[in-house]
Amino acid sequence: MPKTMAAVLLGLVCAGSLLAAAGDLRIYWIDAEGGAATLIVSPSGESMLVDTANRTPDDRDAKRIFAAAQQAGLHKIDILLTTHFHSDHIGGMAALAKLIPIGIYMDHGESVEIARPQVAAAYKAYVEQSAGKRRILKAGDTIPLKGVDVEVIMSAGEAISKALKNAGAPNAACADFKPHGEEPDPDNDQSVGFVLQFGTFRFIDMGDLTWNYEQKLVCPANLIGTVDLYQTTHHGLDRSNSPQFVWAIQPKVVVMNDGPRKGGPPSVFDILRHSPGLEDIWQGHLALGTPKEINTGENMIANLGTSAECQGNLLEVSVDSSGRYTVTNQRNGFHKTYEAKR
Ligand SMILES: [Zn+2]
Ligand SMILES: [Zn+2]
Repeated sequence: MPKTMAAVLLGLVCAGSLLAAAGDLRIYWIDAEGGAATLIVSPSGESMLVDTANRTPDDRDAKRIFAAAQQAGLHKIDILLTTHFHSDHIGGMAALAKLIPIGIYMDHGESVEIARPQVAAAYKAYVEQSAGKRRILKAGDTIPLKGVDVEVIMSAGEAISKALKNAGAPNAACADFKPHGEEPDPDNDQSVGFVLQFGTFRFIDMGDLTWNYEQKLVCPANLIGTVDLYQTTHHGLDRSNSPQFVWAIQPKVVVMNDGPRKGGPPSVFDILRHSPGLEDIWQGHLALGTPKEINTGENMIANLGTSAECQGNLLEVSVDSSGRYTVTNQRNGFHKTYEAKR
């Protein structure tokens, strides 16, 4: 391509980072082809990485996380929060620790799938790597990330026992709740879930908590209140994201950390789009198994192809202290600004 066009494209790609000012909260969704890795950089400069995605022979995901950390100007990950011990959430940990120092390790406590050899091996490696630097979280705990308030609302299958501030209203949708069958991978329901607050802005990440367990937080009363930004639970799979949960938290903006073949079935888009006050859905990947017109607009999708050809483009949000937040698609520089609700 001509040099000038390359310069313009480069300018567009860099635009997102340029929008973030010192004193902003930043969140980066690392594309992990259906794994999870969310990097949070507090206005204080401290950082929390939520999950380390997959392990691959070429350490693809660890390298992508490291590249995002470098883009964020980090020399260290202060807190690694592992929501649960599935391979798409813990796989990149060992390789990442060779690329960048990790301070404290936080998790829900022992895996409940220890009888499965793969999980047992991953859990053992985690225990060894985190020795002396590990903290087990319970619902109601706060995570000490300087500059923001992070409250653990779910851990080890237990929800907070009382509502967060300004929450606790009865949830009328609970009358229509239809339970799912038993979850085949029970460590999902042990996921650590949290609400992060910066000024009036609220972000929620529930790991892979599934449909039935979501109800513990929103039925009969909504213990969470509403949020601005929702990272779809469980990569946007229909094993999670019940209407009772989504319509209770009423996100304005959704980021779906899906993969080309994981997450984003039509039923989940339908639930999200019926959520009161929803403005936009952003996606890490075009969901290839879902009709294109059901996916969100292409401008708001960070990666469009299959994993083999994927560049691993980031989605990024920067939040200023007044509650204005801008989501940027680093693939094309497309960005949009929103106001926090309260
Ligand atoms: Zn997962
Ligand atoms: Zn999982």
